[in-house]
Amino acid sequence: MDPFADTLRRLREAFSAGRTRPAEFRAAQLRGLGRFLQEHKQLLQEALAQDLHKSAFESEVSEISITQSEINLALRNLRAWMKDEKVPKNLATQLDSAFIRKEPFGLVLVIAPWNYPVNLTLVPLVGALAAGNCVVLKPSEFSRSTEKVLAEVLPRYLDQSCFAVVLGGPQEMGQLLEHKFDYIFFTGSPRVGRIVMSAAAKHLTPVTLELGGKNPCYVDDDCDPQTVANRLAWFRYFNTGQTCVAPDYVLCSPATQERLLPALQSAITRFYGEDPRSSPNLGRIVSDKHFQRLRGLLGCGRVAIGGQSDESERYIAPTVLVDVEETEPVMQEEIFGPILPIVNVRSLDEAIDFINRREKPLALYAFSNSKQVVKRVLAQTSSGSFCGNDGFMHLTLASLPFGGVGASGMGSYHGKFSFDTFSHHRACLLRCPGMEKIYSIRYPPYSPRKLRVLLMAMEARGCSCTLL
Ligand code: NAD
Repeated sequence: MDPFADTLRRLREAFSAGRTRPAEFRAAQLRGLGRFLQEHKQLLQEALAQDLHKSAFESEVSEISITQSEINLALRNLRAWMKDEKVPKNLATQLDSAFIRKEPFGLVLVIAPWNYPVNLTLVPLVGALAAGNCVVLKPSEFSRSTEKVLAEVLPRYLDQSCFAVVLGGPQEMGQLLEHKFDYIFFTGSPRVGRIVMSAAAKHLTPVTLELGGKNPCYVDDDCDPQTVANRLAWFRYFNTGQTCVAPDYVLCSPATQERLLPALQSAITRFYGEDPRSSPNLGRIVSDKHFQRLRGLLGCGRVAIGGQSDESERYIAPTVLVDVEETEPVMQEEIFGPILPIVNVRSLDEAIDFINRREKPLALYAFSNSKQVVKRVLAQTSSGSFCGNDGFMHLTLASLPFGGVGASGMGSYHGKFSFDTFSHHRACLLRCPGMEKIYSIRYPPYSPRKLRVLLMAMEARGCSCTLL
């Protein structure tokens, strides 16, 4: 018995009937999504508190308002984004109409993780709906309370002939992925990303993979240690470190480490108090499995700050590790928790070499008072995104694409990038039916003169274009 077949058939029928194509329909869905957020903000905040002990502040900043901004942006620009995009033409097509049409793919599957269970489920949904697709949404089974709200309340705000929430873990996902989708948007671990991509390959379904990894953070000797420490601590311990773009480890000289440690201690105490465990602003680890994994990582190197944990609450203190070896587990896997190892390097060159010997990260950070240093890190490395002198502030700009490169993922979204990701860019040329006399220059019998004229007519005008 296939639990998904009926739902998917219903959605496919709605798409084939053209239900999701009109701009009015798309806008109505986006407005519905906005109403869901406004009317159930408190319910969502409570669910996030239950799942991750997330503070109302962090829920608002990183989950609800960011989703609402995406909705507002899409509503403001929907018609402009949907418009056919005129492209430059050559002499041979001067009288024709050449444009790119943004078409919905059809039936889209969005698979989300648990760490920002509202944002990472609904922001892709905004793009998928705006682009006119039917959508199957699969929230994470680990953020149970949020999953429940998304499954039980959200569908009331959207057209259910075009939209569905499905639930399940790896086993159900195996079944779901046997079905053909027209696009799969996956956010999660590289391990599951591979499973999703293999399943998609069977149907030649295109994918976006938003994955994780280890994000390096270079701290130059020429910096103000307290400013760096404030920014590092906020972005590392935000959502208890369970953030795909969080700085994962620091690269700095031993001298900078000595200046950074008291500054980090000061920042942690100011942010979370003498006993961070009683702070309402620090979350908890999502599951026992992740808690045990993180507790294991506390044994790497030497604890310089924090290090306390409590299994009954899945609490781990904001921690800084020093004397860490490259070969230790904390430097081998994505940390995804409130632990910040510091690795010593002797120079900027050594830091750049350290970064480039590893997989390309999702995000890369460099702190320095010297613009040259920041620009050198930017120029000599690669990553999904880069921020100089701060943490993941670049995520607040919908004008920047968000996505990985290499092992940290493929494809991107946010703002118009989301709309484009969920749209097929169809190349269109509408020619006039007449003018056959002139166009017959293309036909055999061929001659050197015909070739010369044709090549000239097909030469790009105002754009680079490849022929045929
Ligand atoms: P995960 O890969 O375990 O799960 C993600 C989703 O995949 C969940 O909905 C889960 O139910 C589903 N899933 C699990 N097993 C599956 C299977 N066998 N087949 C198909 N689907 C399956 O990831 P997670 O633990 O929820 O999230 C943490 C990871 O996600 C980290 O690696 C983190 O870096 C990454 N992440 C990336 C981004 C990004 O935007 N690039 C954002 C957040 C998290």
